[in-house]
Amino acid sequence: MQQSQRLSQMLFVTLREDPAEAELPSHKLLLRGCFIRRLSPGIYTYLPLLWRVLQKISEIVRQEMNAIGGQECLLPQLQPAEIWRESGRWDVYTQAEGIMFALKDRQGREQSLGPTHEEVITLLARDLIRSYRQLPQTLYQIQTKFRDEIRPRFGLMRGREFIMKDAYSFHANEESLRQTYQDMYRAYSRILKRCGLAFRVVDADAGAIGGPSAASQEFMVLASAGEDEILYTPDGSYAANVEKAVSIPPQAADSPYRSFQVLDTPGTETIDKLADFLKISPTLIVKNVLYQALYDNGLRVAVLLSIRGDQEVNEVKLANHLSRLAERYQANKLLKLTLADAEIQNSWQGDPIPVGYIAPDLPDSCLGRQKNLAPQILRLADQTAALLQNFVTGSNHVGRHVVGANWGEQYPLPEVVDVRKAQAGDRSLLNPDQILETARGIEIGHIFQLGLKFSLPMRATFTDEQGSEQPLWMGCYGIGVSRLAQAAVEQSHDANGIIWPVAIAPYHVVVVVPNISDPEQMSVAEKLVQDLAAAGIETLWDDRDERAGVKFKDADLIGIPYRITTGRSLKQGKVELSERASGQATEIPIEEVVTTLRERIEAALAVPD
Ligand code: ATP
Ligand code: MG
Repeated sequence: MQQSQRLSQMLFVTLREDPAEAELPSHKLLLRGCFIRRLSPGIYTYLPLLWRVLQKISEIVRQEMNAIGGQECLLPQLQPAEIWRESGRWDVYTQAEGIMFALKDRQGREQSLGPTHEEVITLLARDLIRSYRQLPQTLYQIQTKFRDEIRPRFGLMRGREFIMKDAYSFHANEESLRQTYQDMYRAYSRILKRCGLAFRVVDADAGAIGGPSAASQEFMVLASAGEDEILYTPDGSYAANVEKAVSIPPQAADSPYRSFQVLDTPGTETIDKLADFLKISPTLIVKNVLYQALYDNGLRVAVLLSIRGDQEVNEVKLANHLSRLAERYQANKLLKLTLADAEIQNSWQGDPIPVGYIAPDLPDSCLGRQKNLAPQILRLADQTAALLQNFVTGSNHVGRHVVGANWGEQYPLPEVVDVRKAQAGDRSLLNPDQILETARGIEIGHIFQLGLKFSLPMRATFTDEQGSEQPLWMGCYGIGVSRLAQAAVEQSHDANGIIWPVAIAPYHVVVVVPNISDPEQMSVAEKLVQDLAAAGIETLWDDRDERAGVKFKDADLIGIPYRITTGRSLKQGKVELSERASGQATEIPIEEVVTTLRERIEAALAVPD
């Protein structure tokens, strides 16, 4: 990396005003400080200052990946559709999630722009890995990914083109996979510490695959603007993404109803209204929510979920459960889960649905008969609802509810599932004395034990010690390099601008010449810049023909950790050294600048344990 740069010769245009396109402080500051420019939604140019930041992050990532035996490579970004069909993900990625940019080449062959690389790497492993003697293997790359995010936003946080480090490991057995996963865990922790970030590792949703052993964790940088919700216990024994989190729900109230009755409850189509009307706790109500699942064979299934009135549905958990039921419907995968809104209900063409008053035994005749629609409603009950006695629920008639109902009496108990959303205030499942708290985070990294998910459908096998053919065990591990850069800004800035952690700052020091027409200031600065660069200290030299105030403002805005000013104290053979983070300024002799800065930078780069 270039050691020094004259600002007067750099493409450097800062903005005084907050750009309208940005909401988050980090996004505003990166735009204002000439780090990024937007080309179109979710697509950004990384200007020279940011590119240095990204290279520094990449270098830290590289060192930590190499330290655990990772081998760097570069995989193709243009990927043929066939390999996605082999893994069974083409439909999911192009239709259901629709996150993959797909196109046709001139021969009419379908291609995609890589949103991730499991398919490419599994194919490689199938071709090249033959024997247990070659295992384990870990490969990684740092590269641009493409994802057609439905809502690209917050600058680099959610781009449609962004830089990711993705690593993949292959193993002879699960034990070896677990070992590499642990190495990755430690490497990721070191990467984030070295980048100067405060973070928390949380249990993450692993999708429908693998069951409980399919470990998956996310590295969350803590920030109030984070898109993810984290639930954790104050003692640190438990932390999970809300998508995955488990907890003990609050106790249900005692039911005042002793016998089954149908009551007129006009205008009570929501839980709140019903609880108010009956003057009861929502914990006594079984609410029945109607969903529609779409499977990859085109079959639609109406799903009626019963859950306790005070609880929310965790749709990630529900979707995972429905994915596991795919076989029951002769399908491979769940493509989509949606609430059955009026539009979907109309398409069923059956009897009208008493929205707000649905009972667990809503008749199948509500669906009508239609091709590609399962004729029966799939009925599920969350544990919270399944445990209730003498409960209140809908009656299938608008304006009426039933009270004092019981499973096995008025309604058969449906298949019981765990799909409730854990909430702050719930007790921890592991330690019921601990109450879950909530925080927001930015997902920077994700490590995942994939197990056999790709090697089975793609037939990536090896020969074991006994000479028999076995599928490869696999893990994958991602870090959002460009997202990390912005997350660092989100975590570290003040009213005047960015405060880069030293390890990933574009330059270590900026030498500001308040008055460029003063030959002494210029010559001292020039010599300093040379000496600093020679000592390996990356130096930006503000030699622009601008007022001193403008230069100081810009230096603060772009967040260079140290500033040297060749000002009045030159007469005493001194310059001013100020620190961006603390704002502290001292005057030091010119000949001490290099050693002083070197010491401070080294101290700042030391990796905390
Ligand atoms: P998210 O839940 O935020 O959409 P993801 O689960 O799709 O992310 P992964 O597929 O696990 O993400 O990708 C690995 C890493 O890549 C993420 O942890 C994140 O840091 C980064 N990343 C994912 N999507 C984007 C994006 N659209 N823009 C920038 N970085 C991204
Ligand atoms: Mg994720």
